[in-house]
Amino acid sequence: EKGKPLMLNPRTNKERQILGLQGLLPPKIETQGIQAKRFMRNLDKMTDPLQMYIYLMGIQERNERLFYRVLMGDIERLMPIVYTPTVGLACTHYGHIFRRPKGLFISILDRGHIRSILDNWPEGNVKAVVVTDGERILGLGDLGVYGMGIPVGKLCLYTACAGIRPESCLPVCIDVGTDNETLLKDPFYMGLYQKRDRSQLYDDLIDEFMEAVVDKYGQSTLIQFEDFGNHNAFRFLRKYREKYCTFNDDIQGTASVALAGLLAAQRAIGKPISDHRVLFLGAGEAALGIANLIVMAMMEGGMSQAEARDKIWMFDKYGLLVQGREQATDSNQEAFVHPSPGDIKTFLDAVNVLKPTAIIGVAGAGRLFTKEVLTAMGTLNERPIIFALSNPTTKAECTAEEAYTLTQGRCLFASGSPFGPVTLSDGRTFTPGQGNNAYIFPGVALAVILSGVRHISDTVFLEAAKTLAGQLTDEELSQGRLYPPLSDIREVSVRMAVKVVEYVYATGMAFHYPEPMDKDAYVRSTVWNTHYDSFLPDIYDWPQDAQTPP
Ligand code: NAP
Ligand code: MN
Repeated sequence: EKGKPLMLNPRTNKERQILGLQGLLPPKIETQGIQAKRFMRNLDKMTDPLQMYIYLMGIQERNERLFYRVLMGDIERLMPIVYTPTVGLACTHYGHIFRRPKGLFISILDRGHIRSILDNWPEGNVKAVVVTDGERILGLGDLGVYGMGIPVGKLCLYTACAGIRPESCLPVCIDVGTDNETLLKDPFYMGLYQKRDRSQLYDDLIDEFMEAVVDKYGQSTLIQFEDFGNHNAFRFLRKYREKYCTFNDDIQGTASVALAGLLAAQRAIGKPISDHRVLFLGAGEAALGIANLIVMAMMEGGMSQAEARDKIWMFDKYGLLVQGREQATDSNQEAFVHPSPGDIKTFLDAVNVLKPTAIIGVAGAGRLFTKEVLTAMGTLNERPIIFALSNPTTKAECTAEEAYTLTQGRCLFASGSPFGPVTLSDGRTFTPGQGNNAYIFPGVALAVILSGVRHISDTVFLEAAKTLAGQLTDEELSQGRLYPPLSDIREVSVRMAVKVVEYVYATGMAFHYPEPMDKDAYVRSTVWNTHYDSFLPDIYDWPQDAQTPP
């Protein structure tokens, strides 16, 4: 590539004269620093998050390194734009704000041709795929092909948080239709105008997709499932986890970040995890993923599986999960369906009867941690643990302010979407934790890619959770934090990757040979940065005297 195409290619930089760019750019050769400054100034003038999203994603298309430089430069402020909550808004309006396609679209009409579609993707060295079928985007429900914003956003974080090369990341949206009536009437909708295919054809399509990915990019390609509907998420995880290098972030990534929060809370309270009683609001992907990982952590502490499960309760749309209730529970929930503890109608009843030490909201149904619930938690516990994890912000079970105010600042609080610090009337300020999956999946993905893991065991997520909780300083804990500051996420992710690499080699899960002796140096040497590459060919001296006879 030379000349104008090179200049316009977002993955390249310009050695102007040699590359035929002279005159096509203003005379001053700008540093990336000044370019980043211009970009931030423009961003500062914007007040509408959606407008900021459009602007940022536009830069990603025009100058990818600059995009990551800016994103990494102020990740705490910009992550909520490229990721939850704004990415949710962007998905909702996807067809209306659309500028240019990003990622790969595979529809049910492409059955039998997925392998050749992969050949259309311009990058040959893909290491990680994030795939959605758009059925359960954040807590927003079925957005069909508008869900593409999610794999795109997740992969931005692979690069920004863990330094995974952008060209080795492939976002995919599978279109099997949508059951969203609004979208089916929307003239700007960009997917197939049909109801979701829930037949065998859908399963065949996903099978074909998995096979095509490993056929093209190799057996160890990481495939992250994202925002699939509950039923399919569990099914596919079970079906593929032994066969491919895959994980489901909504189940396993969420589990890991939530457990890390609990482990950090445990550090603050000084009470072992096995002493806790956890009540979930919601009994879906997130709740079950978290619950199962808590059980694993409790078992490591010496409890039996049955004892651990007895400490975990779930409350869904129909009430507490108890044996013999009218509304059926599914096989994934069975472990957490207990004998009825008495007459419980509301979530508040459940809190009062079960006396949980922690409540975890993952229902995606809005403000259900009411004033009464929060007050009861504050009465029952010296240090109540309150996690309002539903995304985006409008779906959170309560706000940070409500949680701190109603427990007089005694609670340990985390949310899924960001809340700012809260100052109580007595002047004390608390920094709420954001139980953001971004603390987990980029670091785990980096480790998995680098060590050639073939199947990702749940113990990897347990290890990641412990590593994350262990990175919090005592000082941070005393400010009410349950997670390290987001501004440190790059270092947090790299350190986590190092620990996970050590773990998978120690447990025989790694297949990358030779085993690197210094894992820290190994991980750090691979990390991608935003410096512009040189496009000049490799040029070096050629000694004259070697070319003439003596
Ligand atoms: P899901 O599998 O659809 O599960 C939702 C669960 O909530 C279901 O058990 C559902 O019950 C229950 N529910 C719905 N409305 C309810 C109500 N009014 N009262 C009580 N329970 C209710 O979804 P998911 O993947 O678990 O995600 C749930 C939420 O967690 C989403 O908002 C998501 O954004 C959030 N989340 C956050 C993080 C994070 O912060 N790190 C990570 C993952 C997910 P039925 O089955 O009976 O409808
Ligand atoms: Mn998700």
